Amino acid sequence: MSDADELQVLNPATEEVVATVPAASEQDVAAAVARAVRAQTGWAALAPADRARLLRRFADTVDAHTEELARLEVREAGHTLGNARWEAGNARDLLHYAAGGAERLLGRQIPVPGGWDVTFQEPLGVVGVIAPWNFPMPIAAWGSFPALAAGNAVVLKPAETTPLTALRLAELALAAGLPEHLFQVLPGHGHIAGRALVDHPDVAKIVFTGSTRTGREVMERCARLVKPVTLELGGKSPNVVFADADLRTALDPFSFLDNSGQDCCARTRILVQETVLDEARAFLADALAAVVVGDPADGKTQMGPLISAAQRDRVRSYVPDGAPALRGGAPDGPGFWFPPTVLTGERHDSPAAREEIFGPVAVLLPFTDEQDAIRLANDTPYGLSGSVWTRDLGRALRVSQAVRAGNLSVNSHSSVRYWTPFGGYRQSGLGRELGPDALTAFTETKNVFISTEGPAQ
Ligand code: NAD
Repeated sequence: MSDADELQVLNPATEEVVATVPAASEQDVAAAVARAVRAQTGWAALAPADRARLLRRFADTVDAHTEELARLEVREAGHTLGNARWEAGNARDLLHYAAGGAERLLGRQIPVPGGWDVTFQEPLGVVGVIAPWNFPMPIAAWGSFPALAAGNAVVLKPAETTPLTALRLAELALAAGLPEHLFQVLPGHGHIAGRALVDHPDVAKIVFTGSTRTGREVMERCARLVKPVTLELGGKSPNVVFADADLRTALDPFSFLDNSGQDCCARTRILVQETVLDEARAFLADALAAVVVGDPADGKTQMGPLISAAQRDRVRSYVPDGAPALRGGAPDGPGFWFPPTVLTGERHDSPAAREEIFGPVAVLLPFTDEQDAIRLANDTPYGLSGSVWTRDLGRALRVSQAVRAGNLSVNSHSSVRYWTPFGGYRQSGLGRELGPDALTAFTETKNVFISTEGPAQ
């Protein structure tokens, strides 16, 4: 078997091989799509209440396996156990939420002359979901479960490094009674299986999460077939901290260290009002030193390793030896470790301050006043997320209206809730996932006009 035929899954905390799985070829993708086309026909014909019941059963099955799924996520992705448990719970909760949506996929009745006019939200058919390695289980779920609830079949390609939780979710779907081939998971290489999914004429939509570079290619290829896309791409999100904020919560280092910084919503640009810059620096120095970095399977660990040697090297390239920085500790020995780091000597236009590093590295930058804070916050090609910290309500409202990003938090660092829409402005993406309209993104709107004119007299 050549490298192209199989994928080796490594435990990023130990570098040991966790599993080897076959990598899908273009022919495998074509066969899976053909099976999905058949499965979708029967699924869409079911009454919405029956689809909902099966999805709730799937949710209950996931619930019964949350610990197993969480442990698998720890082994294949190096996530801390606490995070991984949240992730399995998020997949379960989204299934319940989406199941309810299946029964409420409402059309509209529009007043028109000469008859009645009604709209229907019809499933697209087969949806292709391409997921990244940073949150393998939740991101697979966000793309797939609302699509299923709306009456579609799903073919999901997980990232090369993290196929295991997705494969397990597909097994649990079958065990819960979902029709065969309705939710298929095909591990494989991006340039082979991913591209084949994007290019397949019977795949009606692509949901892609990953780098902006690959997202752009996916969109270009979809354009040739006029295929809709949802893109969740990179970020370089600001954490805007005014002098009147509670610095201890505003500067929580897990705003950029969660998941070892491999989080598209990480607040990696820490913008602090210059009057409290020294205080912020002193607080961050202590906070970074206190972060417990180590074995992600240990419940006390706060930060695990990076996903791979390549990712560690990429992160390291932004932190040259001797760069002015605040640093925490990290283990030596096997595993892809990198210490929590805040760069303190960067300009706002330097690569570390502009590019998505995707590791436990942030930059600390001062601002003078509200206008300066807004200018710096928006000085980025991205627009995914961000936080605003101030006790002044008027200022909180003004700044959150002025910052161009899809998911903002005031006096909070949260970004993702399955109840609320999630997605980015500008090069952070296109379209929204989650929230009350999640299912609509997987439908076509059909308009039907019914004449009430009688037969000609
Ligand atoms: P990537 O964009 O290359 O891969 C994401 C997914 O796309 C994977 O499943 C991959 O197999 C697939 N893919 C790759 N090439 C493809 C193609 N030509 N056609 C179709 N599918 C393809 O991301 P990566 O290499 O895993 O990570 C690189 C960088 O991307 C990271 O350092 C980070 O900056 C960013 N990233 C962002 C997110 C996010 O959630 N926004 C997630 C992962 C990575």
